[in-house]
Amino acid sequence: THFGFETVAEGVKEQRVGAVFSSVAASYDTMNDLMSLGIHRLWKDHFVRNLNPGRNPLTAPPSSTSTPPAPQGWNILDIAGGTGDIAFRLLDHASTINHDAHTTVTVADINPDMLAEGRKRALSSPYARTSRLSFVEANAESLTTIPSSSIDLYTVAFGIRNFTHKDAALREAYRVLKPGGVFACLEFSKVNSPLFDAVYKRWSFAAIPLIGQLVAGDRDSYQYLVESIERFPSQTEFRDMIKVAGFLVPGKGWEDLTGGIAAIHKGVKP
Ligand code: SAM
Repeated sequence: THFGFETVAEGVKEQRVGAVFSSVAASYDTMNDLMSLGIHRLWKDHFVRNLNPGRNPLTAPPSSTSTPPAPQGWNILDIAGGTGDIAFRLLDHASTINHDAHTTVTVADINPDMLAEGRKRALSSPYARTSRLSFVEANAESLTTIPSSSIDLYTVAFGIRNFTHKDAALREAYRVLKPGGVFACLEFSKVNSPLFDAVYKRWSFAAIPLIGQLVAGDRDSYQYLVESIERFPSQTEFRDMIKVAGFLVPGKGWEDLTGGIAAIHKGVKP
């Protein structure tokens, strides 16, 4: 591959992934729009709408004096949350659709430069100076600061393909989720139709590194992003990895988006 990722030591791979995201942090949001022709916004909107985060006080079971009050809000962990794109959507949905002012999101990312962009964006959001949104530097493969069985919803969007040990990250997701908690992953996947795949590969291998060079002045990082998509497991392989980590997988286990360019996988901790 371009960076020879298959042959370099794992620690070196982690450093190189770090360098890629430090390099793209400032231009990350603009580049996402250009590379996906804006479609990543629709995928992210769908991902969040489908998860329906937040506890709606109007539909929550009534509390009586003999039962303790229902816990307020969801405790959400957005792993590889980068500049906060998913976190803002989760909180907006909880607040405006479910009238829930208590749900919290912790954005965890290994890269301080991506987190810095997220913190900057948070300053002009309704969640500035509230305890509903927080940013922490953490490696998804070892979430030492997150207690076991403490999380209602674990989200990871366009992150897991960059992890060195995906199986370790899935085991950590399982550990931190409460029983009944949901693991939800939005990630690039495998295109179903050979014809569409040929068009898509032409676009991604030729146009994306070129846009990276012209707009962000960084061809190599965007070349890496394209190659990491190519190496990521298929829908069924990834579904099986989620099962191996101990999750129950609803239905066939995933939903294809835009012909399989991306897919949403889910697992429930029993
Ligand atoms: N979730 C955001 C979104 O959808 O816009 C950001 C996705 S960005 C493509 C991938 C993120 O994964 C980067 O911010 C990178 O720093 C982070 N990342 C890579 N390896 C990680 C790891 N082992 N643990 C936590 N985050 C990681």
